[in-house]
Amino acid sequence: MVKAMNKPPHHWSQTSSRLMNACPRAWALTYGRPSPHTKSRRVSRQHQPRTFDELLTRTMRATWRRKIEDLYQRKIWSTAYTERIFANMVNDALSAAKMEVPPQYRQQKIQQSLKQIQLLEQSTGLRPLVDGQPRRWAYFDRLDSMEVDGVEFYAAPDLAVYHQHRWTLIRIQFRSPRTGLMSQQLEHLLTVLWALKSEGLPDHEAAFRLKVVQWKGSRWHEHTLIITPQLIEQAIGLMKHDVQEMTWLSRWAKADPSLNTLPLAVHNKHCRGCHHRKKCPAVSGLAQAKLRQRSEQLELNQSEATRSLNTA
Ligand code: SF4
Repeated sequence: MVKAMNKPPHHWSQTSSRLMNACPRAWALTYGRPSPHTKSRRVSRQHQPRTFDELLTRTMRATWRRKIEDLYQRKIWSTAYTERIFANMVNDALSAAKMEVPPQYRQQKIQQSLKQIQLLEQSTGLRPLVDGQPRRWAYFDRLDSMEVDGVEFYAAPDLAVYHQHRWTLIRIQFRSPRTGLMSQQLEHLLTVLWALKSEGLPDHEAAFRLKVVQWKGSRWHEHTLIITPQLIEQAIGLMKHDVQEMTWLSRWAKADPSLNTLPLAVHNKHCRGCHHRKKCPAVSGLAQAKLRQRSEQLELNQSEATRSLNTA
């Protein structure tokens, strides 16, 4: 895969887009400030998980990823080996995050997660690979980016499987996201754009199917999305709109380094477990913080109006 030598100034990812839409202040603290080194910026974003569920979700993805890499090399993991690797990774992640979880509860959740990984392998999208059926397939890293119109975007599929003259791009969601269905679908469609830009994959939409495998409640749901040039255009439009907002927020954050005037979270649920909560005006309640912010803004507007009257 060939990447541009000079990275474009703007970047888009689902994580960044969701955070901006959930809380502009949290977005500005995470992405909106310049960092001299792209690498350090990326590392700084890889926060420790905030909850045990987040830790399990990340570890399931990481374990599955290692498993699929080995499968690609025709190395099959036994059930006992999968259990050992997963349990070790959970324990390591708990130590790194300095998170305490009662042993019995930990064990119960580990077993549930292992079951989830096992069920994933039985989904119609993945089963042919696990069963060793003859297929051309590839796996991708979600940190692989592509560029469109000056925007570096992260929307790689987890897998691409060639069957019946088309590539099925598969996206796996270990937890269902809380965003609206429409924006989720447009986000998924960016995966097709990613594939169209990727070397080694076809450059026309008709060559692809798009499948989402999503964990909901206690089972995996699989659905196939319709791909049309118009829908891909809409998805690009959504991404560009997000990038415009991000540019605007970055400028706002630079103009007001205190970030006191930046909008706060849309909903209380976004504050739960937020890494920035301790130093946020919303530390003792989002609604009160919003009221305070509004009255401070009114005061500021009034004093500015008085000043301009006096100087007129
Ligand atoms: S605590 Fe809430 S309002 Fe403050 S940065 Fe976090 S999500 Fe935003």
